[in-house]
Amino acid sequence: MRGYLSLGSNLGDREAYLDQAMNALGACGVHIIKTSSVYETKPCDVPDRQENYYNLVVYVETELYPADLLALCQVIEKDLGRQRPYVHSPRTIDIDIVYLEGITVSTDTLSVPHPALEERSFVVYPLCEIAPDIVLPSGRPIIEVKNTLGDDDIVRMWKIDHG
Ligand code: ADP
Ligand code: MG
Repeated sequence: MRGYLSLGSNLGDREAYLDQAMNALGACGVHIIKTSSVYETKPCDVPDRQENYYNLVVYVETELYPADLLALCQVIEKDLGRQRPYVHSPRTIDIDIVYLEGITVSTDTLSVPHPALEERSFVVYPLCEIAPDIVLPSGRPIIEVKNTLGDDDIVRMWKIDHG
């Protein structure tokens, strides 16, 4: 199975958390094929003042079932100190399953494609960078979604040095 994961951090050493999360995925059977640049983005929908996010998207291949992939993402979040004091609280790392090729999941705990995918420039921009030709499950080409969203929430971007 191949698909795209979104990683985000806005607490502590943000780039280090992204790096550690990618290492942990790789060590647990989630092979990273492609990595987008890091996008610094303004936090949206948060109830208080928070640091900007560092976001990226990875294209991965794994033999894990979707539910086990989610469980792994949550174990990695926990290992990297993720806490959930309130909804949309700052986080050391958030790992979301954005899109899995040829697979839809709709359970109480997992929705794939991620329901908010097309509304989030912090997902759409890095996704478009590494997969500019994909057509989203809604039938819209990623490039079109990107152009409608605009880049108001994106502060800057740069290549991450991840061996
Ligand atoms: P956020 O919505 O900010 O990412 P959490 O990381 O705490 O907040 O996730 C909340 C819940 O979203 C998780 O407990 C998980 O069960 C659920 N969820 C549903 N679909 C997905 C998905 N595609 N990727 C990640 N989590 C998902
Ligand atoms: Mg999440």
